[in-house]
Amino acid sequence: MLVGIGYDVHRLVKGRRLVLGGVEIDSPLGLDGHSDADVVIHAVCDAVLGAAALGDIGEHFPDSDPKWKNVSSKVLLEHVVSLAGEKGLKANNLDVVIIAQVPKLGRKKLEMRDVMARLLGISPDRVNVKATTTEGLDDIGEGKGIAAQAVVSLSGV
Ligand code: MG
Repeated sequence: MLVGIGYDVHRLVKGRRLVLGGVEIDSPLGLDGHSDADVVIHAVCDAVLGAAALGDIGEHFPDSDPKWKNVSSKVLLEHVVSLAGEKGLKANNLDVVIIAQVPKLGRKKLEMRDVMARLLGISPDRVNVKATTTEGLDDIGEGKGIAAQAVVSLSGV
């Protein structure tokens, strides 16, 4: 059993869609970034890469490469899962924490769970998505950005 951790944070700005865990969320602000800036999937990608000892998301998808501009992060996770598969590794489970003061995510967490389970090729009951605020503290508490943490375990197929 191999375990990997991932962390990411993106800034909230006007004029961008908000996509979290592969799900579009209704919000006046979206996350800024080179791809669709899906902070949740980016953390999951890094967790998978970490468990597989394959480096980090910035090495695989540099923001200097126009190929990844505005790309859906679901494509990035599919690629990372295939890289782990080439090493004979498959996900067992995923646990995610989304740290956001706004917006409230509610049932969208279940949609994210289903999307990410499909991308990892595992049952939704092996995926958990949690959300928390920072109680108004720090930049995230002021609504300036959203962060995510992820832990993935992989094992040999
Ligand atoms: Mg990122």
